[in-house]
Amino acid sequence: MADLSLGILNGDDIGHEIVPASVEVVKAAAAKTGLEIDWVPMPIGRKAFDDLGHTMPPGMLERLGELDGFILGPIGHRAYPKHANAINPHPILRKHFDLFANVRPTRSYPGIDCLYDNVDLVIVRENNEGFQPDRNVVAGSGEFRPTEDVTISVRVITRAGSSKVAHAALQLAQNRRKKLTVVHKNTVFKLGCGMFVEECHKAAKDYPDVEVDEVIVDTFAMMLVRDPHRFDTVVTTNMFGDILTDEAAGLVGGLGMAPGLCIGRGNIAMAQATHGSAPDIAGRGIANPYAMIESSRMLVDWLGRKHGIDSAVRASKLMSIGIEAALADPKSRTSDINGSGGTADMTRAIVERINAA
Ligand code: ATP
Ligand code: MG
Repeated sequence: MADLSLGILNGDDIGHEIVPASVEVVKAAAAKTGLEIDWVPMPIGRKAFDDLGHTMPPGMLERLGELDGFILGPIGHRAYPKHANAINPHPILRKHFDLFANVRPTRSYPGIDCLYDNVDLVIVRENNEGFQPDRNVVAGSGEFRPTEDVTISVRVITRAGSSKVAHAALQLAQNRRKKLTVVHKNTVFKLGCGMFVEECHKAAKDYPDVEVDEVIVDTFAMMLVRDPHRFDTVVTTNMFGDILTDEAAGLVGGLGMAPGLCIGRGNIAMAQATHGSAPDIAGRGIANPYAMIESSRMLVDWLGRKHGIDSAVRASKLMSIGIEAALADPKSRTSDINGSGGTADMTRAIVERINAA
């Protein structure tokens, strides 16, 4: 039996380029360390709709549930046809597997146009509650119009949801520089953000070695641009996290540099880049595969540590070496990060470096 079973879900648009690139890189590293992976490709999104009549073909959740994790390419659901079977898989996947924490690191690499050097922080975004219309647990759609001229948007914060993501962030902080910043706006959202902050402080009692502070979201947005080095691990609610992680990506080269891993309390995890499916550049071989490759590395690393699979942890380290080498060379970097290469050049450079290790 293989050490790990991993799903390959290309998603839409550039997903068809950057997901295969990520699989190639993981395969190269796994071959080096003796990590055996069962790869399970599964159709999802527009291609699944065109081929099989459903963006999430029946039985998919059950089959995914048998795996250790999966790589999910970006989903371009806004371009899906209006059809009952053309649903957005995102919220369903996150909810079904209770992937309540979206771990989104921001790192600067030498040679890439960044606003600052030596940026190394991680924002943990609550993934299943908050202000997102498609994710709310009450009020159905989360938005409604009591009259034609008034819209009410509902934001859901629960003690359980806040506590879970706080614990995930605190555990992460423990393995980093032992500093957690809780980002909120409890000056205005006294009940919602108030509850979130309260649960973060309660959870922090279990991690006495982690220093916890709080910053109001607007102040945080300013501080992040002026002095990103003051932050290590950050935890925040869904929509603040959505906005702040794009801001953080802007510090280090843009959306192509923004990876993510969705985790929960269960054993399954989902690698998912922060950026969207970028239809404007799809099919041209120029998409930056870094975010997807690094998300996949995080998946392998997380599973390796969780299950005590040494060859997986070593494969993840090899991937980091390959990624750093490729990013250091302008010829293998993509054009969004001041390079002259394409998706294939960056992937090849990473694989070559791994093979040479
Ligand atoms: P979503 O709503 O799914 O977050 P979005 O509207 O924010 O999507 P993206 O698809 O993330 O949009 O694209 C925003 C811009 O960033 C586009 O111009 C796109 O080409 C660029 N972009 C996104 N990802 C990459 C990438 N991996 N490499 C290069 N450019 C990218
Ligand atoms: Mg976006």
